[in-house]
Amino acid sequence: MRFAPSPTGDLHVGGIRTALFNYLFARHHGGKFLLRIEDTDKRRSTSEAIQVILNGMKWIGLKHDEEIVYQASRIEKHKKAVTRLLESGDAYPAFETPEELAAKREEAQRTKTGYLYDRASLKLAPKEIRARIDKGDPYVVRLKVPSGDIVFDDGIHSEIKVSGKEIEDFIILRSDGTPTYMLAVVVDDADMGITHVIRGDDHISNTPKQILLYRALVLAEPEFSHVPLILGSDRRKLSKRHGVTSIMGYRDAGFLPETLVNYLGLLGWSPGDDRNEITMQELIELFSISGIQSSSAVFDDAKLSWLNGLYISKLNYDEVASDLNEFADQAVADGKLESKPSEDQIRTAWHLLNNRIHVTSDLFDVGLYMFSDPNEYNPKGMRKNFKPGIDEKLEVLAVDFGNLNSFDAESIEEVVRERAGLWELSAGKLIHPLRLAVSGVTGGPSLFDMLAGLGCKTVIRRIGKCVEFVRG
Ligand code: GLU
Repeated sequence: MRFAPSPTGDLHVGGIRTALFNYLFARHHGGKFLLRIEDTDKRRSTSEAIQVILNGMKWIGLKHDEEIVYQASRIEKHKKAVTRLLESGDAYPAFETPEELAAKREEAQRTKTGYLYDRASLKLAPKEIRARIDKGDPYVVRLKVPSGDIVFDDGIHSEIKVSGKEIEDFIILRSDGTPTYMLAVVVDDADMGITHVIRGDDHISNTPKQILLYRALVLAEPEFSHVPLILGSDRRKLSKRHGVTSIMGYRDAGFLPETLVNYLGLLGWSPGDDRNEITMQELIELFSISGIQSSSAVFDDAKLSWLNGLYISKLNYDEVASDLNEFADQAVADGKLESKPSEDQIRTAWHLLNNRIHVTSDLFDVGLYMFSDPNEYNPKGMRKNFKPGIDEKLEVLAVDFGNLNSFDAESIEEVVRERAGLWELSAGKLIHPLRLAVSGVTGGPSLFDMLAGLGCKTVIRRIGKCVEFVRG
């Protein structure tokens, strides 16, 4: 198996899912998972994009076997294959200039006779060909496509049949001497001993051409499986329009690698039941090509967030400490926090909120009040909870809190319930205003735990600020 990305931009979720399926198949069968960087397009390939691919695969846990193969370094092998095809007569040089071809195409459009290269160069006499090459006339090399049917058994779509008459003699070597993708991919896959290719549906039309090359070069054909593309919620091909699609974008937004593996593993593949949770190990044990759906899967952001929340709730602080540290730095850089919270503060906030957030970065978003005093109070909450006289009650509670020997959740609760009893109020009539006064929001973890987590000094300070605010 192999993953063969072109390093021309971001590694998006579709690409990483292809890599994941190949990885799972290889691990399931005890085979190899190889990485080939298809960097022959020098204008579009960048070293940053290569790094993005490597980082993304590492983050998600897809370890490849053997050395990385860089396609550009294999150009001599590709050229040798072209020479072999020229010698066997399966390929031929074609001398038409791009302008001549464009004119022919235009003419075909005008007369509405579907355009395929007309094989004009194939009719040239060997002597003439020799003379033109010697003269230095630029030429491409085209494969002579036989007219019979090309049939292959796709692992997902079953039998696919294309008539050779519908395929033009495609180019395998450009006039600048560089091999095309179509040729390089076949030569490389064969040299790397690839037996199974799982790749996106967008390659389905390339496969018959590649099969022709395997046959002409007398190489063993791999089994092909074309995975349907991932769609956005509007059922259009998933793209940047739909928000975050790059794998590292998800990491930056606070998603966990386990979540992505789980979600992408079940996106268009199923073990035959309707489970939502699965680990990498289980995916390896259960994976089969027959479990891949033949219709497109729709990417569901809400489900991904829900799943991430589930994983977050199961994580220990130590497992995310370094990520949280980075998000804390980011919150300072973004001006959300004046200064970096202490490790203790982050740990406390994590324990209070990890079963209430969907992405780790939420700790410094929905949980921002754990690190900085609120600047405003939820308006609806204010109307409901800041009734006349609440300021005095909050002040009394602050004094009570200050008198506690130990500011723990139990003692805080005792104080609040005692006061509620004395004032003949239900405890909720103090709990909700207190939460709003201290956090600025109306929901969150257990109030008593939260107050204990914030510490006495902070709670008293925040109550003071809120009382001032209420009194205007
Ligand atoms: N480099 C190709 C791409 O990024 C993939 C080639 C293949 O899987 O055959 O789309």
